[in-house]
Amino acid sequence: MKFADIGLSDELLSAVSAKGYDTPTAIQAQAIPSVLMMKDIIGVAQTGTGKTASFVLPMIDILAHGRRRAMMPRSLILEPTRELAAQVADEFALYGVNHDLKMALLIGGVQMGDQVKALNEGVDVLIATPGRLMDLFERGKILLTGCDLLVIDEADRMLDMGFIPDIETICSKLPAQRQTLLFSATMPPPIKKLADKFLTNPKYIEVARPASTNTQIVQFKVPVASSRGKREVLRELLRTDDVKTAMIFCNRKTTVRDLAKSLKQNGFSVGEIHGDMEQPARIAELERFKNGTINILCCSDVAARGLDVKGVSHVFNFDTPWHPDDYVHRVGRTGRAGATGRAFTLIAPEDQEAIENVEKLTGGKLAVFEVGKGAKEPREDKPAREAKPERAEKPARARREDKPERTERAPKAEAPERAPRAERPKRDGTKPPKSAPRREADDADEPGAWNGPVPGFLGVSAL
Ligand code: AMP
Repeated sequence: MKFADIGLSDELLSAVSAKGYDTPTAIQAQAIPSVLMMKDIIGVAQTGTGKTASFVLPMIDILAHGRRRAMMPRSLILEPTRELAAQVADEFALYGVNHDLKMALLIGGVQMGDQVKALNEGVDVLIATPGRLMDLFERGKILLTGCDLLVIDEADRMLDMGFIPDIETICSKLPAQRQTLLFSATMPPPIKKLADKFLTNPKYIEVARPASTNTQIVQFKVPVASSRGKREVLRELLRTDDVKTAMIFCNRKTTVRDLAKSLKQNGFSVGEIHGDMEQPARIAELERFKNGTINILCCSDVAARGLDVKGVSHVFNFDTPWHPDDYVHRVGRTGRAGATGRAFTLIAPEDQEAIENVEKLTGGKLAVFEVGKGAKEPREDKPAREAKPERAEKPARARREDKPERTERAPKAEAPERAPRAERPKRDGTKPPKSAPRREADDADEPGAWNGPVPGFLGVSAL
């Protein structure tokens, strides 16, 4: 099947072919015709499957007819993080070049004034994180009654971040007669409930990530005698493993900062991204990495999920993530779109328990790699199985709640990066243990956030 066969307009087809695509991915082939027929959709798909274009493309054609009105966006895309929202906005701009549509990006950490101005001028599509959207809604700056197309993207990630109550409120403010598209990598019960409540007779589409992405990541664990030896081992791997571009993940923001500094001192071309940085700086660092100004990015888990950076040859876990599902997301930054990738996890004695949890989740022992000697077992051509987050997630989460002692292993000197809205119920309806290390606040619309314009991310863009 070709893009030309699925009902898109000529203007859109020309934008798609300018991007170099002529064949839709599985989710695109199944979703686009149904979206064009105004059906509700549940798309069970991870990033990497082409799911963004599966809603962006038909939306552009649907929105091509109709008129913008002040303060009343015609459609709304909800994203869990600022980075994902910006990424979707990029796709809208790219595919919408031949259309006269306007979009606004409503994300935290960016001046509200510009966003309000954009809304007042009228937008066809609003791409927003729930926190900022609710904020503007509560201030009376936005009306959702004209918004008859809603996309809830990365719904399970929204759940993890405690955004479901906000999403329910937002859904109830939209017209009852609307089209709703919900995308999620997994379908835990609260997401099924959300879909039952807010979608009407949806078409259910489930696609796996392309097989090539699963099998192309070769994963190793690298034993290190003590955590103090990690930097030297990492430098050695960076120098000897044919690293073109690498993301290096640490569990703490201070480790990210210190490691980036130390790598720079050792002559590497390094940037950093973590939740303590202001949004413009995060976007700028990501851009430097994407455009090749730097080839190594030290990150906290803020960068782990969903971001689509082409050609990342290596992922290094400087620390083993405390939550094993974060391992899957980190490692998934390489081996994308059919490319090969290598992932190394440095294991000091204090990482031992965490790596065992990762191995339980991924369903197999990782191959041991000894610096200077190479891989031991299993053989390098037999990569560890990629985790299936949904099935494995529940036991992993249960273990997390069951074993408070694991939290004692987390160094106490610095508070772990906190998840936004940490007090909200978690997926299983219980609060996480108070002392449990938490994921980073990567989309908290925190007070005191940076309040100036963002280069390249003005509130509104003409498409
Ligand atoms: P996504 O799942 O939306 O994050 O997309 C993953 C990657 O697939 C992005 O880099 C897209 O540009 C790319 N992509 C989207 N649609 C296609 C397609 N039809 N053919 C090839 N690559 C695509």
